[in-house]
Amino acid sequence: MSAPPVTMAEMSDDLDDRLRRIGQHPFRARFHLRGRDRAIVDLRGIETIRRHAREIVDQRLAPAEPRNDGKQTPYRGHPVFVAQHATATCCRTCLSRWHGIPKGHALTDGEREYVVKAISRWIVAEYLPKTPPA
Ligand SMILES: [Zn+2]
Repeated sequence: MSAPPVTMAEMSDDLDDRLRRIGQHPFRARFHLRGRDRAIVDLRGIETIRRHAREIVDQRLAPAEPRNDGKQTPYRGHPVFVAQHATATCCRTCLSRWHGIPKGHALTDGEREYVVKAISRWIVAEYLPKTPPA
């Protein structure tokens, strides 16, 4: 007998728990959305940033063997980069270690969306108790 299908709510709880655990790591906890990086979200809105996240993931993280893997994510210059360090989605080693997504294959559409969701969720959480502009 197969397990019952995982609901979206369960998946969300799972991701929140994982992001909380990752955020407790001292290196990850240092990252916050500040200055120009935060201003980009304020200016463009979260929906646009979510699209940027997908583009960045597609280009820099999703290939089976990403260019400069381990060093492909700058520390500033775009809110998505900061979020990637904070959520351990910065490179395929971190993605494997913290999110259980193995290296060596091109990320599936579902895996890309998962990463985008982790990034977006962290950015939104940086605005609590407010919400970022849409
Ligand atoms: Zn990394």
